[in-house]
Amino acid sequence: ETRLRFPPSPTGYLHIGGARTALYNWLYAKKTGGKLILRIEDTDADRSTEESIKGIIDGMKWLGIDWDEGPYFQTDFDADHIAAAKKLLDTTKAYKCFCTREELEAKREAAQANKTTYGYDGTCRNLTEEDIAEKEAAGFPFVVRFKAPQKDGILSYNDEVLGEIKSHYNEIEDFVIVRSTGKPLYLLCNVVDDIRDRISHIIRGQDHMTNTLRQVLLYEALDAPLPVFAHMPLTLDTRKAKISKRSHGEIVAVQFYEKHGFIPWALSNFLVLLGWSSGDDQEFFSKEEMIEAFSLDRINKSNSIFNYQQGNAKFFTDPKAIAMNQHYLRTMPIEEIAVLVKPFLEKEDLWDASYEGDKKEWFEQTLDLIRDRFRILTDFADLGRAYFSDEFPVEAKPLKKNVLKHEGLKEWLPMLADRYEALSDFTLETSEQTARDLATELDIKPGIIINGMRTVVTGQLAGASMFDILLAIGQERVVRRLRNVGN
Ligand code: GLU
Repeated sequence: ETRLRFPPSPTGYLHIGGARTALYNWLYAKKTGGKLILRIEDTDADRSTEESIKGIIDGMKWLGIDWDEGPYFQTDFDADHIAAAKKLLDTTKAYKCFCTREELEAKREAAQANKTTYGYDGTCRNLTEEDIAEKEAAGFPFVVRFKAPQKDGILSYNDEVLGEIKSHYNEIEDFVIVRSTGKPLYLLCNVVDDIRDRISHIIRGQDHMTNTLRQVLLYEALDAPLPVFAHMPLTLDTRKAKISKRSHGEIVAVQFYEKHGFIPWALSNFLVLLGWSSGDDQEFFSKEEMIEAFSLDRINKSNSIFNYQQGNAKFFTDPKAIAMNQHYLRTMPIEEIAVLVKPFLEKEDLWDASYEGDKKEWFEQTLDLIRDRFRILTDFADLGRAYFSDEFPVEAKPLKKNVLKHEGLKEWLPMLADRYEALSDFTLETSEQTARDLATELDIKPGIIINGMRTVVTGQLAGASMFDILLAIGQERVVRRLRNVGN
């Protein structure tokens, strides 16, 4: 059985890079019929927050990433981490190091002055039992260091994405696994937890690769089989900088996409393609297709570019993400769109219970009519406001071009209103014929009436076919709005 894990450190929001990591692990677990374990790596007590844990879990749920076990909390397993450190000490695969911070700092500076790279020189590696007992009795603080094999030759492991990864043994220093406070370090905890959770595959960012080499040694020292490693490319911006909240703002947080009306699967589809491709040109995948197509060996080796583009629009991110969302917004079954739109209408006080009751059909038809020009779900409450409320803004451009320019509309549109009101059968045909007849009688172009009507009925310059719009808005409201022209 394959067992994967997503082990976020709860020190902030769910980052889109983190979400991508979660997605890859989730996809691979699903593909192989395995399990996904959610482990909250909360050992850094100073930086971990409840709020972040909630944000991560909510973000995963919103994206539709479900897990089979957990959430486990790393701090619940302190005893395991300490036991592992003790085992390494007992088997002399680790040792107590009494070097002080000042001593180490002086050595580092000396190395710098000689332009050599500094690595711990092993001063305490060969202390005798008596030396150690004496120092401990005297109350000197110590850290525990792992005894990195000092030998010639090459340490290597196979990476499913990058192939064989190698390092000279002598490039790995005796690294610290327990702090002087007695607290095991993350590097160790992470391995101990992965062993206990019987993790078979570790898919994580290339930024963890230096850890991986040291962790490979820990697996060996703890007599545990090595999991399969797959390191994913980093996500960089177009200037090759890591994307971060500090330089890119809210758009790196999954929550931002939720707030602005992204469709969860559209964001997932975009994120998966940020570092993986199917090998052909397919861009849009259903969940099932994605699970079927996903494989570790098609994860990209080179960095992914998040093409962040700032613009004047109220909402901006990588244009490809928006295009993807737009695609789903236009093509998803309308009943599903209706469910997604509801909270955004509610937020703007535009929701009515009848949209799930006797006006359900009207509601879905209307969404279907207007969705073609929309990019994000908030557009329904925003650009689509005129369908759900009588209070909606009128854009300046059509107002000037299609209404104010034609003085006569102040009389013509109320005339049309009277005729519409008198129609016993308000249909596509009758509403169009009535408008055209009026234009003929007045000897003006029908476009003048129709564009003017569009502006006062929807507030906008463009949109779906005018007479479809009239039917969606309904006779009574259309009459009222036409009459109101100029007010
Ligand atoms: N807690 C680590 C992080 O959030 C996980 C590293 C790993 O995948 O092993 O970066």
